[in-house]
Amino acid sequence: MTALPPPSQKKLGLVIDLDTCVGCHACVIACKGWNTQNYGAPLSDRNAYGDSEGTFLNRIHAYEVQPDPTLAEAVPPRLAQTVHFPKSCLHCEDAPCVTVCPTGASYKRAEDGIVLVNEDACMGCGLCAWACPYGAREVDELAGVMKKCTLCVDRIYNETLEEVDRVPACVRTCPAGARHFGDLGDAESDVSKLVAARGGVDLMPEQGTRPVNKYLPPRPKDTLGAPVMEGDEDVLAPFLAPVYAETGDAEPAGFLGWLDRALERI
Ligand code: SF4
Ligand code: SF4
Repeated sequence: MTALPPPSQKKLGLVIDLDTCVGCHACVIACKGWNTQNYGAPLSDRNAYGDSEGTFLNRIHAYEVQPDPTLAEAVPPRLAQTVHFPKSCLHCEDAPCVTVCPTGASYKRAEDGIVLVNEDACMGCGLCAWACPYGAREVDELAGVMKKCTLCVDRIYNETLEEVDRVPACVRTCPAGARHFGDLGDAESDVSKLVAARGGVDLMPEQGTRPVNKYLPPRPKDTLGAPVMEGDEDVLAPFLAPVYAETGDAEPAGFLGWLDRALERI
């Protein structure tokens, strides 16, 4: 068993916006690139140009989320949504992967809360991978040791890099701006304000791991044309009503109807 340090004041982590992630996998490739091509021990790919295998510290899962059928009568009908779900180590406060480690190789840093693996002390037993409820650890088949997201600790404190690059590779590369990095222990940090404003949540809080990383929930998409409930407002919907929506063929309606008439005059 390995002990956890007392909770640190600084809690570095990620905030991932499920509303804007488009599932492009750029963050996966950036993570793999940084951790394979740089001076850290490379991630194994035994057959890099064949079927996909190997060690990835960041993965994207895609889900189709159906509206809750029990709410169908009570709320405007919602459409099914595809949610792209990036997943890497969440740098938990009560990290079971640390406390289960028999050699002390897995540890949580007292100064900033980052959970790391000391590869020299890891014997590759895999207990931490079993203990992690998020599947965030992977054995490096070639090195024979456990690996996981390091929050790019070799970038974020690296003063030889431009300041703008001192963030995790996944954050630096995300073209959708869906990934944010910062100190979630500081209520005044940008990431903490973002979590407060958007109702950021823990992943699987029932596991009691108290993740530092937070997820911003996806917002309902495209309720155009759905009946509007009291208190529910879509200010654009009346202007974007389909042409001939409610007036039959007699008179085109809404913004598109106006556009249609305006174009006819040209
Ligand atoms: S790079 Fe950004 S948008 Fe693309 S999959 Fe990763 S988090 Fe999502
Ligand atoms: S997400 Fe998994 S690997 Fe990361 S700290 Fe939590 S339990 Fe450990």
